[in-house]
Amino acid sequence: MSRIRAAFWDPAGDRYGGMPTYPWRMAPPHLLTLRQLTAEGLRPGSQGVQAQVLWRSRHHGTPGVRAAYLYDVRFALPKRTATARQRAALGKANAARRTCPECDRDVGYVLPRHLGTCLDCAEEMAA
Ligand SMILES: [Zn+2]
Repeated sequence: MSRIRAAFWDPAGDRYGGMPTYPWRMAPPHLLTLRQLTAEGLRPGSQGVQAQVLWRSRHHGTPGVRAAYLYDVRFALPKRTATARQRAALGKANAARRTCPECDRDVGYVLPRHLGTCLDCAEEMAA
């Protein structure tokens, strides 16, 4: 382990105010960044930051220490799905797309855009 990596190796958080700290790419596998959690379809839930990853970066000119915060995947929760209200709004929007402006019925399928009416009305108008 390099000297810098060793400086960031503090799983107990003794040197970092109680925050378990790991060098880049050396955190245990159950600790994930927010981005990694999201990629797994998860969110942190009620847990706070569990640990941090530190690394030196020279990006953007000024060298400095960068941090990424880690969450414990074991406390993570599934990403919130649509709320009842959102589902209702979606349902309404879909119902509107199924409702024929000619006969005012929910015909149970999305109206063909090129007709603008249900198939029955389109047929009747064609006749
Ligand atoms: Zn119709």
